[in-house]
Amino acid sequence: MTIPLPKLRELKEAVLALIRGPYTTKFPAEEPKIPDAYRGFPDYHEEDCIGCGACCNVCPSNAIEMTDDPNAAVRKLTICIDRCITCGQCQANCPTEKGILLGHEYDLTTYDRADLRQRSVEKELITCEACGQIIGAKDHIIWTARRLGPLAYSHPTLMLAALQGTAAAPRKPRGEKELTRGDTVRILCPRCRQEVSFLA
Ligand code: SF4
Ligand code: SF4
Repeated sequence: MTIPLPKLRELKEAVLALIRGPYTTKFPAEEPKIPDAYRGFPDYHEEDCIGCGACCNVCPSNAIEMTDDPNAAVRKLTICIDRCITCGQCQANCPTEKGILLGHEYDLTTYDRADLRQRSVEKELITCEACGQIIGAKDHIIWTARRLGPLAYSHPTLMLAALQGTAAAPRKPRGEKELTRGDTVRILCPRCRQEVSFLA
């Protein structure tokens, strides 16, 4: 009787497996060794996040929720890990490159999905002094102004928001009144700025 070649190959694999031991890890009895390039789940790093919302816009699985509260002037970004596919797009598209980073976590077992929605960051919002419309996150505007350098001084909103960040520009409340040319040097949304620009 002749043994077919495929059977011999399987026999060889079986003997080698006995000598080498199993390929699979012994998790959860033993912690597996995680390769450096492993893409785990993301988390925010508040000091490097400027609240721009780019991570939310690029997330393909809609795993990042962004809510703006104009009354409290707060933007909140929350990662819903239960929807995350660890693609790394949020990290790759973060303008500061460090606001959101993928870690090495692999085990997020839980009985409650709400446990997986605890990763969030909150940022102060800047609103239009005339109409109250949200302009953007304060840290984002300050970051943009710093990147532009002296060019930022060509745009009053950018300049004043950046100065606010350094507390160098005390502001008087504008109050409820019609826009005038005097409002040019104010923090204004694009619509109000356009209105001021066309005033006689
Ligand atoms: S700075 Fe990075 S982490 Fe923060 S909101 Fe923007 S893209 Fe997301
Ligand atoms: S890793 Fe991918 S799926 Fe997960 S939050 Fe970032 S962009 Fe979304």
